[in-house]
Amino acid sequence: MQYAIYSDVHGNLQALKAVVADIEKAGTAKKIFLGDAVGYGANPNECIKIIREFSDIALAGNHDHAALNLIDISFFNPFAKEAVFWTRKQLTRESREFLAGLKVEESLNDITLVHATPCLPEEWNYIFSLKIASDNFKCFDRKICFIGHSHVPIIVTLNEKQGRCYVNSGDTMNISSGCRYIINIGSVGQPRDGDNRSSYVLYDDEIQTVTIKRVAYDIAETQSAIIKAGLPSSLAERLGHGR
Ligand code: ZN
Repeated sequence: MQYAIYSDVHGNLQALKAVVADIEKAGTAKKIFLGDAVGYGANPNECIKIIREFSDIALAGNHDHAALNLIDISFFNPFAKEAVFWTRKQLTRESREFLAGLKVEESLNDITLVHATPCLPEEWNYIFSLKIASDNFKCFDRKICFIGHSHVPIIVTLNEKQGRCYVNSGDTMNISSGCRYIINIGSVGQPRDGDNRSSYVLYDDEIQTVTIKRVAYDIAETQSAIIKAGLPSSLAERLGHGR
């Protein structure tokens, strides 16, 4: 079966539409959303509607919980905070109910799914070193854990025999027996790895491959929607840089 796993849409409707079209072209059987439907972008309700109808499994992210007033946002940067307050005012009852019903963790077959980390998924921590990745391998028992949250796509392999973790280079990888993986799928709506195209992942458990996919979308249209909504202009600007 082929899985398409996407995340961190952040109210960017143009990016979401482009990624959905790309996933449909691939004829994927199972579509999985790893959280952060809203925050930063100008079209939260429209994105939620698409995510709700398109996804077989959908999880919550920290920005979804922020929009529902479920977490402390005092540590959010000022622009993110402003976007949270704006988003809270925009969300329809239907959208809020959808977000409130999302789980933070799910496992099926050989994969575990979380927005942030498999250890304490609701603490919304980041995996930004191999040491932290290595600790997180102890918190799930499946072969692969797919995550989002940092907006930077990356594949970390644990060679179980050697007890060694390393980062894979390249966008396509064959799954090996004797290895386990933590795979960050990147972000649809606000990529931060210097490539301004949306990112998502295809996983085929029959041919055992993982591919990080990049999809171009109409950035200018998203930027003008953000400006028109009265959101901070820096949130529009960064989309062009992919940072
Ligand atoms: Zn995010």
